[in-house]
Amino acid sequence: MTRSSAGRTVGAGARTVAPAKLNATLLVGPVRPDDGRHELTSVMQSLSLADDVALVPAPEGGTDGVDCPGVTGDNLALDALRAFREATGWSVGPLTVRIVKRIPVAAGMAGGSTDAAAVLRLAAHLSGHDAPDLLQELAAGLGADVPHGLRPGLALAAGAGERLVRFGGVLPGAVVVVRADVGLSTPTVFRRADELAPPRTAEDLEAWRLRVVAALEAVGGGELARYPDELAVNDLGAAAVDLEPVVGEHLAALGAAGAAPALVCGSGATTVGWFADEATATVAARRLRSEGLDALIAVPSAGAPIVEVEA
Ligand code: ATP
Repeated sequence: MTRSSAGRTVGAGARTVAPAKLNATLLVGPVRPDDGRHELTSVMQSLSLADDVALVPAPEGGTDGVDCPGVTGDNLALDALRAFREATGWSVGPLTVRIVKRIPVAAGMAGGSTDAAAVLRLAAHLSGHDAPDLLQELAAGLGADVPHGLRPGLALAAGAGERLVRFGGVLPGAVVVVRADVGLSTPTVFRRADELAPPRTAEDLEAWRLRVVAALEAVGGGELARYPDELAVNDLGAAAVDLEPVVGEHLAALGAAGAAPALVCGSGATTVGWFADEATATVAARRLRSEGLDALIAVPSAGAPIVEVEA
């Protein structure tokens, strides 16, 4: 049996879900002089669309590794395990990160980031090194979208995405997610956005932040029937459409199917349309599929329980 440095055994391991993230609002501000990243005001909402992530003992004679069909090259989830070991000295025997991908890859839904956050949560659970500040620091070091995945749900992000304020409840309604068969790289989309228009000023970002906070407080109080249309803005949308015109076609198709509003997801190329409820979203998704689009239904979600893997 594999024994951790904290005296625990990992047994057959543990698993959890790693939810996709939707940016209900994404506003891009000035570039920070210290690290060259943009200041953001971003409403992040987890979705029922999720990867399954498990941390289990590696096969006999193996090393730490990842099994993630559909993703080639370096995997952020394995980076997370390595960072956790290095920071905590967790010396339990070799582990495999096993991922079943459902979140579209390179699609602006934080797929790699949420998998990495799930690994940090699993490693903390299995090792007993469950220090929130340390996890937060490790997550921020892995990427701007990783901290949100430590506690999936509704949050307002500032800084480059790493400064989070969490809110109770989830955004009302349901979404249809339209996958594109093209990927967009996040840095490329930011660069194109900078070429198309100057970023917002710090004052403008702050004014938006106050408006968004008021809406999110109303969500937590159960007072909001729908997320206000005027807050559903994505400053990266125009750049994503410019780089991949098919993104614009998907937005138009979602709008024609009744989405209000339809938005580019993060840096794209996935698009998402808001509907009043799951039933309406289901009808729209059916229509979009009949038009040849790859459409999924998801609902806003919070939480991601960890369960032990049965031996
Ligand atoms: P962002 O967090 O910037 O919104 P994204 O959602 O657009 O990212 P990802 O799905 O995270 O994009 O994929 C971006 C790149 O990361 C891909 O090229 C992919 O190969 C790599 N990657 C590394 N690990 C993973 C993972 N666990 N899942 C998906 N992609 C991963």
